Amino acid sequence: MPLSLPCPSRPGENPGPGRSDAANVAAVTEVEGQVRDEKLDAEREARRQLALGQIRQYPDPVLRMQAPPVEQFDDDLRRLVARMEELMKDANGVGLAATQVGVLRRVFVFSPEEDKVAALVNPEIARRSDEAETDDEGCLSIQGVTMPVERSTSVRIEGRDENGEEVAYDLEGTAARIAQHELDHLDGTLILNRTTPEARREALAALRPRLVIR
Ligand code: ZN
Repeated sequence: MPLSLPCPSRPGENPGPGRSDAANVAAVTEVEGQVRDEKLDAEREARRQLALGQIRQYPDPVLRMQAPPVEQFDDDLRRLVARMEELMKDANGVGLAATQVGVLRRVFVFSPEEDKVAALVNPEIARRSDEAETDDEGCLSIQGVTMPVERSTSVRIEGRDENGEEVAYDLEGTAARIAQHELDHLDGTLILNRTTPEARREALAALRPRLVIR
């Protein structure tokens, strides 16, 4: 898949590790406001832009598709998981579903807790709390907007890891929200379908100018 940089003002050259130039540093400092380690942050921002360029963006039709279950736990699957974990980290995300990288398989990666990344293959919610909570959610495939989404406050999610071993997570709060968001992606459901009609209208209005440019 060809890389596309979403930010047109960014210099065309890819600043790899240790190669970010002064222009990049200045641009990032300006946008981000406060940058502690300018060189590192410029690199991280460049990585983030590259990662986002590889993540399918609304209204890409693949984001509406239902992903079929994984049947083979092979090297191909493990390569996909490794690539998704890398992309998720580079994009500063907390979850990423295979459909978001254009692969129709029931796989997602997420952070069940801080500094931890796990893959769930063929995930299913085994149990969910009666209690639900509404909070703002963003999506790496719908950049620049957030919208209120109601989710169960706790869930038990079961599936397999990338080696085919059975795994289960009892999740609460943010982690439970992330897992429900990612599972939705595997069914082609976006936060736009889960929010209020008003928030949906607002989000679409905010997205529209960018869609015209595309
Ligand atoms: Zn998402």
